[in-house]
Order: sequence, then C-alpha cells, then structure tokens
Amino acid sequence: MRSTTILIMVMTEQPSDSSMDSIAAMDSGLATRVTEWLKENLPAGWVEAVDAGDTEKVNLMRLALPYEEWCEKLGKAGWATATWPVEYGGAGLEPAQAKVVNEVLNRYKVPRSFNVLGIGMAGPTLLQWGTEEQKKRFLPPMAQHREIWCQMFSEPGAGSDVASLATRAMRDGDEWVVNGQKVWTTLGHIAHYGMLVARTDPDLPKHKGLSYFLLDMHAPGVEVRPLVQMTGEAEFNEVFFNDVRIPDSMRVGAVGEGWAVATTTLMNERVALSGAGSEGMANVGGGPVDALVALAVKNGAWGEPVLRNKLVQLVIEGRIVKITNLRAAARRKQGKPAGPEGSITKLFQAEYNQRLQSVAMEVLGCRAMAWDETDLEAASMVRGFLRSRANTIEGGTSEIMRNILGERVLGLPKEPSVDKDVPWSELRR
Ligand SMILES: Cc1cc2nc3c(=O)[nH]c(=O)nc-3n(C[C@H](O)[C@H](O)[C@H](O)COP(=O)(O)OP(=O)(O)OC[C@H]3O[C@@H](n4cnc5c(N)ncnc54)[C@H](O)[C@@H]3O)c2cc1C
Repeated sequence: MRSTTILIMVMTEQPSDSSMDSIAAMDSGLATRVTEWLKENLPAGWVEAVDAGDTEKVNLMRLALPYEEWCEKLGKAGWATATWPVEYGGAGLEPAQAKVVNEVLNRYKVPRSFNVLGIGMAGPTLLQWGTEEQKKRFLPPMAQHREIWCQMFSEPGAGSDVASLATRAMRDGDEWVVNGQKVWTTLGHIAHYGMLVARTDPDLPKHKGLSYFLLDMHAPGVEVRPLVQMTGEAEFNEVFFNDVRIPDSMRVGAVGEGWAVATTTLMNERVALSGAGSEGMANVGGGPVDALVALAVKNGAWGEPVLRNKLVQLVIEGRIVKITNLRAAARRKQGKPAGPEGSITKLFQAEYNQRLQSVAMEVLGCRAMAWDETDLEAASMVRGFLRSRANTIEGGTSEIMRNILGERVLGLPKEPSVDKDVPWSELRR
C-alpha cells in the first residue's frame, strides 16, 4: 500500500512535467506548428491514432513507414537537429524550444535517425571547431540521415586512458598518412564518415601530440571487421588503417589540438548517452518505466509487494533523471556548452537503466527465459536487458565518470599522473 501511495504522489505531483508544461506553455505555438507539420508529412491518420490511443494502428504504420526517406524528410524540416543554425540543416531554435519540438516528436512516436554519433557528437564538435567549409559540407547530410557517422577513439591499449592512443598520422604534403587500429567502433560497418583521433607527434606528452580528423570510411586502406556482442548483434567493430590518406582539409582544429577537440566530442557523448541531449533519441535508456508499470499491472506482477516497491523506486528515480536533464538543458539554454556535469546524468542514467532492465526481467517472469518467436515484446525486452550491460562501459566507464565528478565538479584532488609531461614515445605501453 505504501509504495502505491508514493507512486500516486509521484505521478500526480510530477515537478518535472510541470516544468515541461511551463516550457510548452512558453511556446505552444511551436508545438502546434510541429504537430501540424507531422499531420501533413506522416502517413494520414498517424497523429489521430496516437491521440486516440490506438497503439496497434500506430505500430503497423511505423512498420510500413520508409525509414530512410522519413528521416531525411524530418532532417530537411530542421526538426532532427532543431538547435543547429538553419544554414547547417537545423531549425535555429533555442534549447528550450528544441525541447518542445522533442516533446511533440516523442508524443507522436515519431521515428528518428539512429545517426546519434553524428547528430549528438560529431555535429556539436563541428559546430564548435569546424571550418565553415566543413560545417556546410557535413552537417546537413548528417541531420538528414544521408551520411552516418562513427567515432574512432578507443584502441586495444587505450580506452579509459584514450589519450595514450597509438594510431599514427604522418604528414605528407597536403595529406596525412594513417596507420593503426581502433576498436569498439559503433556503426563502423555502415558509417560513411568517422571522427578519428590520431597521434601526429609522438615526441610530445600524450595529450599534446594528438590531432582530430574526419575520415571517409570508404577510403582505400580502411578495413572494418565486425565484433559480435551478447545480444547476438554486431553493433560495433574493429577498424584497421593501412596507409590511409586523409586530406589536410579534413583536419578539425589545429595540429596538436586533437585532445581539446576530442574532449568536446566526449562531453557531448555523455550528454547524448544520459538522455539529456535536446537532439537525443527519445527514451534513451530508462524512459519506458511507465510502460513497465503498465505491463506489471496487466500481468499481475504489480500484486507482488517487493516487486511493486522496486517499480516505485524506479519511477521516482526516473523522475529524478528527467529533472536533472531539465537542469542541464537550462544550462545549455544560457548558451553554455556541455560541461563535466554531463558525467552526473551519464553515470546515473547508465546505472539506472541497468536496474530498470533487471526489474523488467522480473516483471516479464518466465517469458524472459523462453518466449514464443512471435512474442516481440519479450524478445525486445530481453535484448534491452542484455544491451544495458554496456551502459556502464560505453562513453566512459562509471569509475571514470566518478573520477571526473570528483575532480572537476566536486574539486577533489586529482589522481597523481606520473606520465603527464613525459614524451609519449618514452611511455611504457
Ligand atoms: C557498447 C559499446 C560501444 C562503444 N562504442 C565506441 C565507439 O563507437 N567509439 C569508441 O571510440 N569507443 C567505443 N567504446 C569503447 C569505450 O569507450 C571503452 O570501452 C571505455 O572507455 C573503457 O575502455 P576499455 O574498454 O579499454 O577499458 P579499460 O580502460 O581497460 O578499463 C578496464 C577497467 O578499469 C577501470 N579503470 C580504468 N582506468 C581507471 C581509473 N583511472 N580509475 C578507476 N578505474 C579505472 C575501468 O572503469 C574498467 O572497469 C564502446 C564501448 C562499448 C561497451
């Protein structure tokens, strides 16, 4: 009884939703404009079916929607990257307005581009560091899902300590010649372009001899080999570079400034993975707690007090994630770039999603162990559970997030770093 009471309080008081309401009230004209655009551009009856709660009809329509074409249309309208300037394929909106756009897109279950490494990471990095030519060339196709992006930072010997990476780029006239290997490259097998950090001066300390490049994934000498993960999918890859040539015009930032540019990408990655990004995918890890409660009520799991208590706890934590993300959005509204505070939501969201997915398996019961092949709900929930194990590793492990929070948010003393001023070439690896 107690947990039910708390749940009702949380669901009715909902401070996060009232904040949402105030944002929406500020710009209800924008919400109407986006809704009207959806009515005109989605298949006829979609918006009305959502409003009428006809989930089955919406699901069928989603299956029939030509995905690539739709993502391109959404991108061309500027809604996929609402805060980007219009000339680079966005809608030129403020972050708070972009939140309104995303609320409408979420409400109408609008399919979005899976190009998160592009839209959420490469895009903001290019907006901050790219040349005019690079922004005009790469941002619109990124927003329109016409060019998919991947991130090539991690190497077999350089993950948490990514600044120690060994992939080498050597200057040759107007080009760079790249040799080395990356690993865990998400979407590398389908990406058109990748963000690449390589060592351009091994005689400088590890953070100082790096440069940042945009790499054509189909350039001669790039070899992509898939890695199979426990979901059975091969979402990420090893990438090998064998005398790959990159024009100097594809360098982002100055030679040797790669660490600073990469930090922008990493900060934005944490924001994207925390679900706080205004351009992020809907329901990034953990969004569906209300759906889980609904399933528990439907299948009787809600009747078990211990399980009900866990669900209520998750609802409360889900609201905390939402409120914290709103706070981060408010910071961006003031024009401040993603900062170390993104590590708070990245850390919390990753661990929260793992708890949520474990409880989801309890709610699912026996269906989580063996399910009928037509039972797509069980299949997708089990996949979600298996995939969530990666949340506390990808985008920086939870231990590294705690280090960043300790040092850069709480101001605690830094870990001793004996290799900071030593040339990379002299480091033991
Ligand atoms: C699903 C998934 C997708 C990924 N996609 C990409 C991608 O697209 N592009 C890309 O470049 N990388 C990607 N990665 C790689 C990811 O960024 C690294 O796995 C991560 O940074 C950890 O590096 P590592 O695996 O080398 O582990 P290590 O750095 O070897 O860490 C091993 C263990 O030691 C701990 N540890 C290490 N250093 C410290 C320290 N200083 N203090 C405390 N504990 C420490 C870690 O927390 C971890 O538990 C992906 C990873 C996953 C799981």
